[in-house]
Amino acid sequence: MNEIPFGVYPTSRLYQTLGRASVEKLLRERKARVLRRGWIQVGDRQDPAVEAVRRGGVLSCVSALDYHGVSVPEHHDVHVRGNRWAVSNRRGPFCRRFGRPESEYGAIDDVATALAHSVHCLDDEGIVVVCDSLVYLGMMSFDEIEHLFRSAPGRVRRLLDKIDGRAMSGQESMIRFRLLRENVKLDIQVKIAGVGTVDILIGRWLIVELDGFEFHGDRPHFTSDRIRITDAQNLGYHLLPFSYDQVVLDKDKTHERIMTAIRNGAHMRRSVLAGVVPEMTTEPAW
Ligand SMILES: [Zn+2]
Repeated sequence: MNEIPFGVYPTSRLYQTLGRASVEKLLRERKARVLRRGWIQVGDRQDPAVEAVRRGGVLSCVSALDYHGVSVPEHHDVHVRGNRWAVSNRRGPFCRRFGRPESEYGAIDDVATALAHSVHCLDDEGIVVVCDSLVYLGMMSFDEIEHLFRSAPGRVRRLLDKIDGRAMSGQESMIRFRLLRENVKLDIQVKIAGVGTVDILIGRWLIVELDGFEFHGDRPHFTSDRIRITDAQNLGYHLLPFSYDQVVLDKDKTHERIMTAIRNGAHMRRSVLAGVVPEMTTEPAW
């Protein structure tokens, strides 16, 4: 055996790949341990699959998507898929999927299996956030999601036309979803001459920027974002920048601020600040 494969595995798979003697040696030398019957962890690295396997299942749903680097809504529980024995013999909760169960299994579900298990745990907005991110990252195509959702509940299938793989962040997907629900006409990732690419443009004149502009922590970003704000205002755009916390934790107030601007017609009119904002010459106060 050349290399110890750190991670959590079904014992049978380890026997196949390493050979029984090597696995038993690892266990004797305490380089591996049995998590539960049929499952072994090699090494002692922190691994989100350990808790899932100890609870009688494997890591799935929102937790597995998060593990794979997909944008997911805030969650604090470990989401576990239990096998049939675990579901009837152990205390859950276990995440449920729609459609046919999978036959292939490891300690952490692949993105398609995790997505199928996540639709009962996520609200509509959360499902769109996850699907946007999967398409954006190239982990699943829109067609693959559509195919998977063929056996999903109607509520889930109706979300397909809300998916937009151009979304650069979970926050952008959230704001877009909330505005589309109000029938607001908008576009995302819009290139504006003299400003650059903005996250969301509502109508002709209202820009929503997320976690960009003022919210970069480092000085060069802060300065370039300030210049972008000034440039956009000089061209007549109205700007609403929001932080992650505003979008995720203070969502009602943030949504209301955007809707108020729309009710005031900000998306249809040039800003009165057009051409009168002096260029930023002072250093930001740190
Ligand atoms: Zn779940």
